[in-house]
Amino acid sequence: MIELVSESKCVECNLCVSVCPTNVFDRGEHGIPVIARQSDCQTCFMCELYCPADALYVAADAEGPTAVSEALLDEQGLLGGYREKVGWGKGRKPVAEHPYMYELAKRTAIG
Ligand code: SF4
Ligand code: SF4
Repeated sequence: MIELVSESKCVECNLCVSVCPTNVFDRGEHGIPVIARQSDCQTCFMCELYCPADALYVAADAEGPTAVSEALLDEQGLLGGYREKVGWGKGRKPVAEHPYMYELAKRTAIG
């Protein structure tokens, strides 16, 4: 579920507002979007994927809100963390291309 918009990182592009399939965000009065309908979030991660500033955090738990602290998320590299793992953003590669993932796939292959 969408949990956080970082006001310090947001560049006010409103891409998250545009890509959200369930209209969770409202355009903010001062440019930074607000999470207006959190319970409508489908945990699809689209907003986090498209955010060019890694300013969003979507928690994997889809059932309800999770208490989060921006300072802790930032420290743990979790702001925009899904986008980073998928390899979106300049100079990034998807985690799936890491040699470890190939080895893991070989080890867990059936047959
Ligand atoms: S995770 Fe998906 S449904 Fe939830 S706010 Fe982001 S784009 Fe909207
Ligand atoms: S996509 Fe990211 S940078 Fe753009 S408005 Fe949304 S939170 Fe801010």
